[in-house]
Amino acid sequence: MNRLRSVSTRDDIPQEYQDTPIGLLLEYHNLNRTPDNYTQARLLVGMCMDHRKNLLIPDNFAYVIRSGGGNLRFSEFKVSYAIAVGGINSIALIGHNNCGMVNLISKKEQFVKGLVQKAGWVKNRAEEHFMQFAPMFEIGNEIDFVLHEAKRLGLRYPGIQIVPMLYRVEDNLLYLIGDL
Ligand SMILES: [Zn+2]
Repeated sequence: MNRLRSVSTRDDIPQEYQDTPIGLLLEYHNLNRTPDNYTQARLLVGMCMDHRKNLLIPDNFAYVIRSGGGNLRFSEFKVSYAIAVGGINSIALIGHNNCGMVNLISKKEQFVKGLVQKAGWVKNRAEEHFMQFAPMFEIGNEIDFVLHEAKRLGLRYPGIQIVPMLYRVEDNLLYLIGDL
C-alpha cells in the first residue's frame, strides 16, 4: 500500500490538481468541503459497481460510470459522450481494494451455482457464460489495473486529464496513486 498517497488536508492535494475538478473531488469526498452549486458536470468518474462505495459529491458535479473494477473498456461510447456532449475535461478513474473482479476464476463455482439455483440457468450455459466473460472482466490487481486503464484512456483521449485513484473500503477515502 506504499504506492498510495493519502489526502487528509488541502495541502496534500498536488498543486496541479488544486482548484480543478480532480482537486474538488478530493475536497468534497475526503475533506467534507461544503457542496457548491453546479449547473453543468465538471468531471467523469469511472468506478466499480461494488456496493461498499459511495462518493460524497454535489449534485450535478459529475457523470459517473460504474462497472466491474472501474473497467471502462466496454463503456467507451459513454466516455466519449461525457467528453463531447457533456463537456467534461477530466476523468477520475477510481479502483478500490478488495475488488471482486480480482481472481475471478476462484469464484467460478459460486457463479455457476448461483445462476443455476437462483436464475434458473442450465449448468452448461452458466459455465460458458462465465468462461466467455471472466477473462474480459478480470482486472488482476486493483492498483495496476487503474494505472493501466488510465494510461490506455490517455492514449485514446489525449486532450483529457485522467487521474487514477484508489478507494479504500476500510476508511471510505480516496487515495492518489504513486509519485506525481
Ligand atoms: Zn470492485
